[in-house]
Amino acid sequence: MKKYILTIDLGGTYLLSALYNESGSLEDRSILKTHNNKYLDPENLTFSVQSFYSLISEKIRNKSISGIGISVPGIVDESTNKIGEIINVKNTISGINLKAKIQEKFSTPTIVLNDANSYAISESFSGSGKKFSNVFFINIGTGIGGGLVINGNLYSGSSGKAGEIGHTTIDANGSKCPCGNTGCLEMYASGQKIQQITKNHTLEIPVEIFKMIGLGFCNIINLYDPDALIIGGGVALKTKDFINKVFLASDKDVIAKLKKIKNMSLAKHGIDGALLGNAIYLKSILN
Ligand SMILES: [Zn+2]
Repeated sequence: MKKYILTIDLGGTYLLSALYNESGSLEDRSILKTHNNKYLDPENLTFSVQSFYSLISEKIRNKSISGIGISVPGIVDESTNKIGEIINVKNTISGINLKAKIQEKFSTPTIVLNDANSYAISESFSGSGKKFSNVFFINIGTGIGGGLVINGNLYSGSSGKAGEIGHTTIDANGSKCPCGNTGCLEMYASGQKIQQITKNHTLEIPVEIFKMIGLGFCNIINLYDPDALIIGGGVALKTKDFINKVFLASDKDVIAKLKKIKNMSLAKHGIDGALLGNAIYLKSILN
């Protein structure tokens, strides 16, 4: 019987799932809105462990699977496997060891990763960062996250928090962020904030925000000095000439710094990058 890897990406906007066969080819993919789908807890419309159970049961029915890979828009503590706060999705999975629960329920190897880390893995392995040793991935979507792959290995820090570029300060006099810091990049340049600032749903990004994103890129270069900076997430991917607009909005000293990076490009795998990254990571563990 054919064996599959089931992969799920819980995002701020979309809930994606896919089945990959043993040779790594995609055989089935589905996409649903995160905030309005049949797997939400009907009482309070939240995403719960039960939502995962229902989704997984449905997807693996009559199939043999070798593992389950899940990505979430929150930090996953590597020592406890507990999921940190998820700001952009109404949920009851924060603080829970989802990996242990899924593994027990379905008796199959399971991984749970931070979504930006999953994106970083797929872009580094077979995407826009493939030719480079050190790849930083920034996800500019509903929220802003980041992931770092060094010489083919994911670097997630001592407790899974490495690469959280959305929570670096770009305005010391800015507003207080729920993370405890002040003037974080995510407070201005996430899809959610852009909608609030521009009071529309077209995601037309003002020049000042592009300028802030340029400062965020500088923070990445100063902190990690990667060979490649790969940019993904709905906000970045849906904006025409996104990278060019960052350069156009930035001051000349910032532009000089940005030009030092060997490669700056948009994510090749688009919004499917985390699905693929989960499968690649899971396969590396199973082998
Ligand atoms: Zn913050």
